[in-house]
Amino acid sequence: MKALVYFGPGDVRVVEREIPKVKDGEVLIKVATAGLCGTDRHIADGSYQATKNIVLGHELAGTITEVGEGVSHLQIGMQVCVDPNLSCHSCEQCRAGRPNMCINAQAVGVTRDGGLASYVSVPSELVSPLPDGLSPLHAILGEPLSCVVHALDRANPQAGDKTAVWGLGTAGIMMIQCLKAMGQSTIIGISHHEDHRQLALKAGATMVMSQEEAMNNLEVDLAIEASGSPTAFLPAFNALAKGGKLLLYGVMNPEDTVTIKPEAMFRKELQIIASYVGPNTLDRSLALLNTRMVNPDLLLGDRLTLEEAQQWVFKEGARRKAKAHVVFE
Ligand SMILES: [Zn+2]
Ligand SMILES: [Zn+2]
Repeated sequence: MKALVYFGPGDVRVVEREIPKVKDGEVLIKVATAGLCGTDRHIADGSYQATKNIVLGHELAGTITEVGEGVSHLQIGMQVCVDPNLSCHSCEQCRAGRPNMCINAQAVGVTRDGGLASYVSVPSELVSPLPDGLSPLHAILGEPLSCVVHALDRANPQAGDKTAVWGLGTAGIMMIQCLKAMGQSTIIGISHHEDHRQLALKAGATMVMSQEEAMNNLEVDLAIEASGSPTAFLPAFNALAKGGKLLLYGVMNPEDTVTIKPEAMFRKELQIIASYVGPNTLDRSLALLNTRMVNPDLLLGDRLTLEEAQQWVFKEGARRKAKAHVVFE
């Protein structure tokens, strides 16, 4: 089979690989669709740690074609989605109920083979059957949405609050749809891309603005930084009303720094909240997609070949609309 493999920073190629052998406790999935995301770009340029020689692809859905020894709750023929994050269940963090902080964490498409290939074998505990009516194409949005759901669980917005979202890529648009479903009174989408602002309005934003416009007189209870750009951090912080919360969601580079005024944080009793991946939230995300509370058709972008996916991770080729994905025949 053809696979998109990470060989090291700056070296990602399409190569021929054997179809994986299913091990005990695992299932073999014939991949229907795999999504690409910013994390793949960070892996490709070396700014996000990954294991060399692994197949990329942590957002995937497909059909089970083989079931390993000891797997009882999954059967051949089931359509499924995969939570890529595998925890050890026994370290201090796992025992404290924080599997996403596991010190022995593994991840499909990051530290072990992922779904940018026709087949992938994954531990059965990571596998969620798709709800009736949800296609594998739409289900690839389950993983990125599971991270958004976890982030919103942590930020805990209250019905009737005012929220603003900086950065209207896949995550920002998902945030807006969830915030609408959660009853936010004002949802402001902020981006310097006009097409992203239009999409935010379709997704349920009550208002959209450019980054410059958002520097003046904005006051919100929850400010969400979903752009991954350090330049959005301070405007988001400065927009917080008394008692407000800043949700740090976008992935910045390890060397990025920001400056804040602790006195304002003290006087206004502000909180900064971060979130990392989506522990135990995949089934809820699949439900949100299936009910169209998060509309997958607003989010699915260009369909790429594996070769085009290689260009995509290096930001080469045509500028591609999110959520870029590969469909396997
Ligand atoms: Zn991702
Ligand atoms: Zn652990």
